[in-house]
Amino acid sequence: MSEMALRAEIVAVAQAIDKAGFCPSKSGNVSARFEGGLLITPSGLPYAQTKPEDLIHLSLDGTVLSGARKPSSEWPFHVEIYQARPDAQAIVHTHSPRATALSSARRGIPAFHYMIALCGGSDVRCAEYATFGTPELAKSAVTALEGRKAVLLANHGVIALGQTLAGAHTIVAEVENLAGQYLDLLASGLEPVILGEAEMERVSAKFSGYGKVG
Ligand code: 13P
Ligand code: ZN
Repeated sequence: MSEMALRAEIVAVAQAIDKAGFCPSKSGNVSARFEGGLLITPSGLPYAQTKPEDLIHLSLDGTVLSGARKPSSEWPFHVEIYQARPDAQAIVHTHSPRATALSSARRGIPAFHYMIALCGGSDVRCAEYATFGTPELAKSAVTALEGRKAVLLANHGVIALGQTLAGAHTIVAEVENLAGQYLDLLASGLEPVILGEAEMERVSAKFSGYGKVG
């Protein structure tokens, strides 16, 4: 894919998560690997105004290689995830409402539904709290992402990674869907029945031959 096409796709995903209501008060950010580093959305710029040329090219140690704007304040976790996870080609971060509500109870999402397997395993963990934009948050996110493609950030939001931007986008949307269903289930007072590890392994195996994204 050309640099221009990649820049346009990052902006399109950022605008789509915003339209979906996942980025209140211009929260969230999007990045993709590019030439020894990554392209990332600028900090604080409303997505409706963001153009492909506003993206910042960072090296994998966070040095600005090109771009006139300030990179997302969350560049430390984008960089840390790309360093720790060779499988990550793209990262999407949101403050989507229902997942963020669940994260504020510092609860992850168990395998109450088989679609949890889309997130890479048998649950979505909630990472330990740390202040936004810090190396501490980057470390806690990477730790809780081990073997997973999505994580809740305590009292904050969601990170999803994918082999493509479309994959990371799909996962971040599914996490919001699952978090909402899980909250509804808890609010109903009914007891969730959690699928066991063996069943989740079966589901993951079926997904791997099914052309599922991520
Ligand atoms: P940026 O606008 O700096 O990317 O920050 C948004 C955000 O979600 C911080 O966690
Ligand atoms: Zn955030």
